[in-house]
Amino acid sequence: MELNKDIDQFDIPLAKRTYLNNPYSTLLKKLLLFSPFLFLIFSAAGLLLIRNVELLPLNNLKFQVERNHDARILGHLPYNETPKEKLVLIEPNIEVHADMRDSLLKMREEAKKDGIYLVFLSGYRSINLQNDIFYSLKSVRNQEAAERARVSAPPGYSEHSTGFAIDIGDATQRETDFETDFENTDAFIWLIKNAAKFHFKLSFNKDNKYIDYEPWHWRYEGSIEALRVFESSNRKL
Ligand SMILES: [Zn+2]
Repeated sequence: MELNKDIDQFDIPLAKRTYLNNPYSTLLKKLLLFSPFLFLIFSAAGLLLIRNVELLPLNNLKFQVERNHDARILGHLPYNETPKEKLVLIEPNIEVHADMRDSLLKMREEAKKDGIYLVFLSGYRSINLQNDIFYSLKSVRNQEAAERARVSAPPGYSEHSTGFAIDIGDATQRETDFETDFENTDAFIWLIKNAAKFHFKLSFNKDNKYIDYEPWHWRYEGSIEALRVFESSNRKL
């Protein structure tokens, strides 16, 4: 056993010597010689890659901030007027986007089953009508534009022009129509609990820093077109 152990010890350096004489060792030596340069090249490439990856979302965010900053007027985002052919009449004076008709009527039916009576106050509004609402009332009420914009969108900046917005009241408490007090009605409490089932969302909640809280104003987000229309509004910065 002692002898074998000695032979083993002797064999190891021999084996090493054979390895070093291997023809591949020349290549290995060259690689080792160039390795600092290769390391530098790969590091530089890696840094450039990381820099680009990091800059990409930052540039997008910066672009979005600038875009939103430019697009908003007194806190309101711009909206196009929906073409007439996409509108349907649901009540004598209320038109809405065809995409949301069924869902809206279904929501009213389901509420009725729970003893809640929703009343639709205002749907689609043309830019011309919005123009009258904004400027006529601004003049009558002797308001400045910024003050008026807290409660009404300037023409071209109203969700109502898209046909995807609906103002809702409680048929049993009409005195709360278009009033913040609407939030205390059974209709509002029901909507908060159930509206999302029908793809409706409160547009201007209490957190909005530009526009006053409007518990009666809901928008539809149940179709791709509607989601596209409200994309900027939904995007978190
Ligand atoms: Zn509204």
